[in-house]
Amino acid sequence: MIIHPLSTGSVRVKHAFLFPGTGVRRQLDLFLPGPWSDPLPIHCWAVEHEGRVLLVDAGETATARNVPFARFEVAAGQELPAALAGAGIDPQAISEVVLTHHHCDHVDGLVHIHAPVSISEAELSFIREPFGRLMRRVLRQPLPPGFAPAPLVLGDGPFGAFSSSRRLSADGRIVAVPTPGHTPGHVSVVCVDDEGRHVMLAGDATDTLEQLHARRADAVGPDPRVHRATLELILEHCRLHPTIFLPSHDPGSAARLASGETVA
Ligand SMILES: [Zn+2]
Ligand SMILES: [Zn+2]
Repeated sequence: MIIHPLSTGSVRVKHAFLFPGTGVRRQLDLFLPGPWSDPLPIHCWAVEHEGRVLLVDAGETATARNVPFARFEVAAGQELPAALAGAGIDPQAISEVVLTHHHCDHVDGLVHIHAPVSISEAELSFIREPFGRLMRRVLRQPLPPGFAPAPLVLGDGPFGAFSSSRRLSADGRIVAVPTPGHTPGHVSVVCVDDEGRHVMLAGDATDTLEQLHARRADAVGPDPRVHRATLELILEHCRLHPTIFLPSHDPGSAARLASGETVA
């Protein structure tokens, strides 16, 4: 198994996004003036295994529009085809795409891919809710043209600390697990590497490893309690299995994958 870290430009987010206040300030501060972070990566991941290439998320494109709490820095030459070329992967070789969730910086790159795409059933339901549609219009964050992923059903029973899962490889070494919080249908993809470690491609389950250890819900999730319960579950999984934890926007993710550093 080979796991390739792909990078499709960067994003700066408001400090209030990474370190939210409580109560009404949690989301209000996102829309008020405040300091910004350094550029954070926009990772997606290609997993070569069993003669197939699974893409986990598709990254951002140069067409990305800023929102009040995120500023995108993506050049056309940083989009998915260039990221794949850098890893020696032909876009035509992608067998399947699994999306962790529906946010633009994870799905916009789908315009470059013709493989089957799936996203969790719960996320599909969330996307269809009127409030979500309204927010995408207000924030000018449309889903990419032709966006029609198939529902990913987590019907394959428990996996580690998670009560449900979905196998993404014949040998069961790649599985999707539910990690709701950032969005209600968010999933993470766990790959059991050749050393038996679990590599968790965590999407936006957290922004950083620090946020996982701090058990800090983020500023955008609808219910912070759901998010905190997921963070506890991920930490429980890390206790059961040595796990390399790789959020999409953590500046330390690529280095942890390279070094094999597991969650202590
Ligand atoms: Zn997100
Ligand atoms: Zn994201």
